[in-house]
Amino acid sequence: MDLYEYQAREIFQQYGIAVPEAETADTAREARHAADRLGGRVIVKAQVKTGGRGKAGGVKLATDPAAAELTARHILGMDIKGHTVRKVMLAQPVDIDAEYYASYALDRAAGRFLAIASAHGGMDIEEVAATRPEAVTRIPVDPAEGVTPTTAAAIATAAGLPPTTAPALQRLWQILTKEDALLVEVNPLVRATTGDILALDGKITLDDNARFRQTRWGDSARTHDDPLEATAAAKGLNYVRLDGEVGVIGNGAGLVMSTLDVVAGCGARPANFLDIGGGASAQVMADGLTVVLADPGVRTVLVNVFGGITACDAVADGIVKALETVRLTKPLVVRLDGNNAARGRAILDARAHPLVQQATTMDGAARRAAALATDAAAV
Ligand code: GDP
Ligand code: MN
Repeated sequence: MDLYEYQAREIFQQYGIAVPEAETADTAREARHAADRLGGRVIVKAQVKTGGRGKAGGVKLATDPAAAELTARHILGMDIKGHTVRKVMLAQPVDIDAEYYASYALDRAAGRFLAIASAHGGMDIEEVAATRPEAVTRIPVDPAEGVTPTTAAAIATAAGLPPTTAPALQRLWQILTKEDALLVEVNPLVRATTGDILALDGKITLDDNARFRQTRWGDSARTHDDPLEATAAAKGLNYVRLDGEVGVIGNGAGLVMSTLDVVAGCGARPANFLDIGGGASAQVMADGLTVVLADPGVRTVLVNVFGGITACDAVADGIVKALETVRLTKPLVVRLDGNNAARGRAILDARAHPLVQQATTMDGAARRAAALATDAAAV
């Protein structure tokens, strides 16, 4: 789970990394008052869990509280890479002398962390990394040894950052370990004209496996940006929205993952991942189908169930139940196999819905669903 910039800023502050004075606002009027309290001149920043806000027009200087109100009105509601801005942060502007990039990220393949730093931070860091990879320094960090003041100084030196950045680099590491983060990124970490080192932006990704002991962010960080994911989460469904056209529902993460692959192999794109889990009830199936069908991108739905603990007749009952509440307007391809498959198929045959088709194999079902999605696209 990612934190918003203003939340990352709070953590930076707590660990002694300097940040500009700032406040958040949910409305333009609040932004005006906040700007007033901050001294008038402020940077207005969209709070969305995606990067590139500056380039998208989501980071703007306002010279007085009235301008801050206007700017906030413009930025609030803005769409940045599919994320709607619902909050802005107003920060005291900093006179920048130099912008650096600094992060620690988990390198899963190598089983360790990487310190990544560059003296060429700022909005063009991706381009720098692509065109001048030598300008971005990567140093492996042994998780058992961590980042000592000596290591932090070595990272700064290797990346061409001034030695005054070393304390911030060490504190960022403390944040990574103590806050159970998988990624801590500051871009830009700046040297102000006063010589002070400040974090002007922050991205922190927390490890979801540590949620049980990182209760501080409560539901705020758990907030789903996607409304369908939010609905699914509220119903306790294991749902991830993707951007294809074939809705996929299955039991067991492994089966659903392979179903996504098979759909892709048939030339279509999966619209979602939805694992109804083991021992799924008719209600879970009905909830799942409702969520998947609510996605306007979905053209066909593929239900792939291998009955084990979950019996196929319960799944079929769930589908029939869902058909009572959801008006099916898109083809539904169902493949039931395993525990009580024959009974499950018989239930669906008896329901005889014109848009529900059955297939006996996973490949056959995926091919059918993919073909129907493509046909539907032609309509
Ligand atoms: P991002 O585009 O989502 O990464 O948003 P950032 O918070 O990193 O802001 C983008 C850019 O705006 C930064 O790289 C800075 O160049 C600039 N910026 C942000 N805050 C300030 C500030 O206080 N003073 C100045 N001069 N520039 C700022
Ligand atoms: Mn940034």
